[in-house]
Amino acid sequence: MEEKMYCPICYKELELMAACGAAQYFCKECKRVISSKKILTEEEVKKVKKPNS
Ligand SMILES: [Zn+2]
Repeated sequence: MEEKMYCPICYKELELMAACGAAQYFCKECKRVISSKKILTEEEVKKVKKPNS
């Protein structure tokens, strides 16, 4: 099962771009590549996103 990763800026799902062995994540909303150190997991997004905001 593949884990989904999310943008730390807009919290949208990221697109995985596998290039030359180095996986990169691209955000279609921000139109930029997100560093793998900054990407959020689904759990982290749930923590950040408050239900009543
Ligand atoms: Zn984004």
